[in-house]
Amino acid sequence: MLVDLHTHTTCSDGTLSPEALVQYAKEKSLEAIAVTDHDTTAGNERAIQEGLSVGVEVVPGVELSAECDRGSLHILGFFVDSESPSITEATAFLQEKRRERNISIIEILEDMGVFIEKDPFLHNAYLGRPHIARALVDAGHCETIDESFEKFLKRGASAYVERKKLSEQKTITSIAEAGGIPVLAHPVTVSDPEETVERLCERGLKGIEIYYPTHTDKDVARFTSLAERYGLFVTGGSDFHGLHKPHIGLGCVNVPYRVLQEMKEHWATFTS
Ligand code: AMP
Ligand code: ZN
Ligand code: FE
Ligand code: FE
Repeated sequence: MLVDLHTHTTCSDGTLSPEALVQYAKEKSLEAIAVTDHDTTAGNERAIQEGLSVGVEVVPGVELSAECDRGSLHILGFFVDSESPSITEATAFLQEKRRERNISIIEILEDMGVFIEKDPFLHNAYLGRPHIARALVDAGHCETIDESFEKFLKRGASAYVERKKLSEQKTITSIAEAGGIPVLAHPVTVSDPEETVERLCERGLKGIEIYYPTHTDKDVARFTSLAERYGLFVTGGSDFHGLHKPHIGLGCVNVPYRVLQEMKEHWATFTS
């Protein structure tokens, strides 16, 4: 009985619709998945409905990026109520900033003589750098999505633009006030996980993602001991994005169902 507690759909930068993702989870014999789209909960209800019809448990989630000057700080929110004003306000803010950032990136590319179709980016706030990367490939400027990131889009590259995010505290509070469990995603993407976890715990962090495709056995041991030190939930998932990250398979980190079971059992106590 395996689960995958970190996945993306076409509501953010995955390439499978919420329904197709759940069907794929069924094909892969997963017992449960969490849908954790960037900055939106739009796919959660669709995935839940599909899950009811095909027999896959779906945990409604979200992944919010927070301000951080030591790497990428992403907070997952499990069991968030997508109707809660605290989450709708946070996601609306993040999406608008994402839309503005996309336009700035495209304008820089245009100044460099690199043109892609701009129209979708003017109107669709859920689009992000992976979509720009794909557009660069489609327009013949790059061979692969990776090359698009390397040449233009990664932090420090020629068309990189910083995106305005919410503070750590506001991010955690937005999830907690929406009845969700705030969990630090892929701690390897910050340069100082120990200090970050200590600080985030003071701000209401409840869990840490331990099982992740790029985590080594040493990382898993390191983050397990952090979880024990601060009494955090442990979670895990693949960060599946479909064809935007073709090397990452759904369910590839073999997270046992008991991880979700423990989260569910303690959810009420942690969110009360
Ligand atoms: P954004 O939210 O618009 O800043 O885009 C972030 C997304 O781009 C995340 O899903 C990242 O994992 C993805 N990303 C970052 N670097 C790369 C890369 N080299 N190749 C593919 N995806 C990447
Ligand atoms: Zn993504
Ligand atoms: Fe992330
Ligand atoms: Fe993710």
